[in-house]
Amino acid sequence: MEFKNADNLGMTSAAPALPLTWLNRFARLGPAFATPCAPTPLPEAHWVAVNHRLAADLGWPTHWQQTEGLLDVLTGNRPWAEHASLASVYSGHQFGVWAGQLGDGRALWLGELDTPLGPLELQLKGAGQTPYSRMGDGRAVLRSSIREFLCSEAMHGLGIPTTRALALTGSKGRVIRETLETAAVVTRVAPSFLRFGHFEHFAALNQPEALRQLADFVCASQWMDVPDAEAHHGNAYAALLQAVVDRTADLIAHWQAVGFCHGVMNTDNMSILGLTIDYGPFQFLDGYDPQHICNHSDSQGRYAFQRQPQVAYWNLFCLGQAFMPLVNDSDLILKVLESYTQRFSNSLLERMRAKLGLTQPQTTDASLVEDICKLLASERTDHTIFWRRLSHAAKDLENAQAKALQPVTDLFLDRQRWQDLALRLQARWAAEPAGTGARMLQHNPKMVLRNHLGEQAIRQAQAGDFSEVQTLLKLLSSPFDEHPGYDAYADFPPAWASSISISCSS
Ligand code: AMP
Ligand code: MG
Repeated sequence: MEFKNADNLGMTSAAPALPLTWLNRFARLGPAFATPCAPTPLPEAHWVAVNHRLAADLGWPTHWQQTEGLLDVLTGNRPWAEHASLASVYSGHQFGVWAGQLGDGRALWLGELDTPLGPLELQLKGAGQTPYSRMGDGRAVLRSSIREFLCSEAMHGLGIPTTRALALTGSKGRVIRETLETAAVVTRVAPSFLRFGHFEHFAALNQPEALRQLADFVCASQWMDVPDAEAHHGNAYAALLQAVVDRTADLIAHWQAVGFCHGVMNTDNMSILGLTIDYGPFQFLDGYDPQHICNHSDSQGRYAFQRQPQVAYWNLFCLGQAFMPLVNDSDLILKVLESYTQRFSNSLLERMRAKLGLTQPQTTDASLVEDICKLLASERTDHTIFWRRLSHAAKDLENAQAKALQPVTDLFLDRQRWQDLALRLQARWAAEPAGTGARMLQHNPKMVLRNHLGEQAIRQAQAGDFSEVQTLLKLLSSPFDEHPGYDAYADFPPAWASSISISCSS
């Protein structure tokens, strides 16, 4: 299939009539940072899924997806009239090795909008080749796009920082992967798509002025609270690095607490805002296995679940290295980077306390959490089901229900070991104010995007039925709710789930 460039099609480029106010601050950074690039059209575009909740939050009207021309714009079949779309340049470390220049090989920046949620950038993923596509076709397949669309919204529903997904469009256009697949385009939304790799790029090119421009841009953007420079010897760039360290530590604590494995934590997939970004072979753990590797291509297990905190630290050191020309003080950089360890463990403990419904910290909480995780690991207990059942059990105990703990006990073979833990838990809960179970139910989701759920939605979508994508979107957007009638989505994975193999190919 040959794809024509939108510029050559003589298509109308009138802007879809939506109430939009463009800010486009990133575009003003200049040509060193991004190259104007038109999307490449796809034949027979159609909607696969739309995110009404996000559209409403953006202040868009109810039937926004029926806006004349919007389907074409969000598939890359015609440019958005006001301004050029852009592909940005970045570099990065992939699997621990410097990979040099990468860049938006299949992502196009459509612009930045002023919205009720604050300034947000729109990006198309899979809308064709860019100057940074290297050997790639600039495309994304339906399979991986459904996973990205659903998981971004699942993460958001869980309260985990992430890029969002507004829409998913499909096409009959063919894309070659291991087999022939169909193309799709995800409209991603985030305050910024800047990555560690954007900074590494200009540091590696020895362009300190560009590096400074980028850092100043982030500082001025008000995307995140940058700590007072005074606390960092008056060094604003050390303060910025501190903000990234803090956000990254908090993000990884979220991942570890919910059992999310990203799969490709290369520095080009690390958001400078501490968002989960670039959904590829990710997986929510079924059975709790700290050594789990979700990326079929990760033969060494570099990005195994339990290695994620350490990998994030390693990635922050790459960013710290890139910040050297800005901060000009290696001791200060080291001090900032080293704060990650404490921030991460505090943040994780805070998350685990919340999962246990604990509001009054005690020094023994860490060992309680550790012993629970050890038991889960030794039995490969289903992570999501354990925590959800435990939440219900805590609630039932408060209501003096007999056998409140039985559904949790049923999950274990080593009953004695669990019962010893259960006694410790009950003693711990006794020191807490009422409402432990209700608190836990707000921190332990019923619904996560298990691989097999995504797979079922993908298979149906590949057969032309997109209803399952929309059902999952609904369930995953409010994962702490009970969703009566949908219990099957919160059940143990079927036997075939363990044979699902997900690689980087997307
Ligand atoms: P990823 O592993 O998806 O984070 O991608 C790493 C790099 O490869 C980024 O620069 C991507 O833009 C680029 N890339 C991945 N897939 C494609 C593709 N199909 N076409 C062009 N570039 C791609
Ligand atoms: Mg990437």
